[in-house]
Amino acid sequence: MKKLAIVGFGAAAIGFMQGLIESGRIDQYEITVFEKGKDHTHNTISGVRMDGKIFISKGMGGELDIPIEVQQRIVEFYLTHSGYIPQMKEKAKMIDYLKSFEKDGKKIEFGESFCDEESYRNFYDKGFEPIKSYFFHLGTDVLRETNDNLFAYFSSFKNIQFYFDTTVEDIELSQKHKIYTNKGEFVFDEVVIAVGRSGHKLMDRIKEKYPHLVKENYYVDIGIRYELPNHVMERFFDMYEVKVRYKARTGYMCRLFCQNPSGKVALEKYEDFTTVNGYSDTYHKTENTNFAVLVTTRFTEPFKDPTGYGKNLAKLANILAGDQEKIILQTYGDFKEYRRTKRFGRVYPTLNNDSFILGDANLVFPSKIRESLVDFIDRLDDVIKGVAYFDNLLYAVEVKFYSNKFNNDIVENLHVIGDCSGWTRSIQYATSMGYMRALAISV
Ligand SMILES: Cc1cc2nc3c(=O)[nH]c(=O)nc-3n(C[C@H](O)[C@H](O)[C@H](O)COP(=O)(O)OP(=O)(O)OC[C@H]3O[C@@H](n4cnc5c(N)ncnc54)[C@H](O)[C@@H]3O)c2cc1C
Repeated sequence: MKKLAIVGFGAAAIGFMQGLIESGRIDQYEITVFEKGKDHTHNTISGVRMDGKIFISKGMGGELDIPIEVQQRIVEFYLTHSGYIPQMKEKAKMIDYLKSFEKDGKKIEFGESFCDEESYRNFYDKGFEPIKSYFFHLGTDVLRETNDNLFAYFSSFKNIQFYFDTTVEDIELSQKHKIYTNKGEFVFDEVVIAVGRSGHKLMDRIKEKYPHLVKENYYVDIGIRYELPNHVMERFFDMYEVKVRYKARTGYMCRLFCQNPSGKVALEKYEDFTTVNGYSDTYHKTENTNFAVLVTTRFTEPFKDPTGYGKNLAKLANILAGDQEKIILQTYGDFKEYRRTKRFGRVYPTLNNDSFILGDANLVFPSKIRESLVDFIDRLDDVIKGVAYFDNLLYAVEVKFYSNKFNNDIVENLHVIGDCSGWTRSIQYATSMGYMRALAISV
């Protein structure tokens, strides 16, 4: 039997293991999964407040070509392990079949973006590029349950061993790959690296040692988390997420990202700075909807550190907020008028009071980014009246980092999959990448 190491127990690792099972090749391997979380509930899927939105789309979630059939299979896989049961026997119309899944008599929350011609045209005519997609929303709570079920499922295979509380610190690539962890050294015939974004230390080390395996990255997405009353967005709730791109007057590309109807705003803590994010539960609803507005910033020579640029803007917001673990909150009206916010209007934040300072995000954003954000929100108001209300809330800073893209064709028996590979940024694409790689489909 071949000795296989999987580093990280997240979406991509789950897809890879499932791919091995479905391909029938699982019996050829003795598998060790190293996860730095102290048990399975401390992996990314369970440990962070992930919203558990799984979508099917060709236009978002990663820069790979994942066939729609594979994406549908991944949704079916997660729904089944969430405890949802299909009510339709027939799989002929796959989307209808997936929509029919029920749990405790409740249908899976489902949405379609821009699949009807009229809403597509409304956005298109105002300069937006609408992205077609289907959404299945598990919610943070059900996603945790799913993670428990998946752990039990994979643990039932005698040839899969989990090592928790085990951080892989370094990997030596050779004929047989050597793995260095906080618990000792191990040798494997084949290695899968699936450490997501939180595994950036290990990835930095690998990139430093083997620079020929990665391509340069020139991008970072910088922006805000925006929060507004549900009633403004309500007529688009069927869609679940209004996924659009827009080229601002500045020439920068902006996008609406990660919408959470009836959701909550949350902090995203890194080692030495804090940004903002959002999520929503299936069972605990709020009166507000939140989403990110992100501006894609591309750099050219000689500047080569887009990640550093994003981190430093986030740090600047933390400094102005007076604490490394606080962010800036402002009303949209005050932001537009360059005024520090002193009190709320009709919209109250869902983020805890001790996580923000009322301030002025104009002191953080360079003008090209600021102009792009205002242009995007005002233009969106032309299609969704109320998006640009004075009282709506703006949290700074939200940042999405792009990892350098990894070339998987250079080292034999090495697979770098999921977000740490730089090719994906979603549960669907990370899981699919792992799944296809294990099925020996080149991705
Ligand atoms: C707050 C939040 C909400 C999100 N909501 C959604 C959503 O609703 N829908 C969606 O599609 N995407 C969402 N995402 C993005 C999604 O989480 C990722 O795109 C996806 O999980 C990537 O999968 P992955 O397997 O590459 O990495 P991960 O799922 O992050 O898994 C990596 C695992 O590796 C472990 N690890 C890291 N370093 C090491 C190491 N050195 N040694 C051992 N183990 C290590 C980590 O603990 C982690 O468990 C969200 C992200 C965040 C932060």
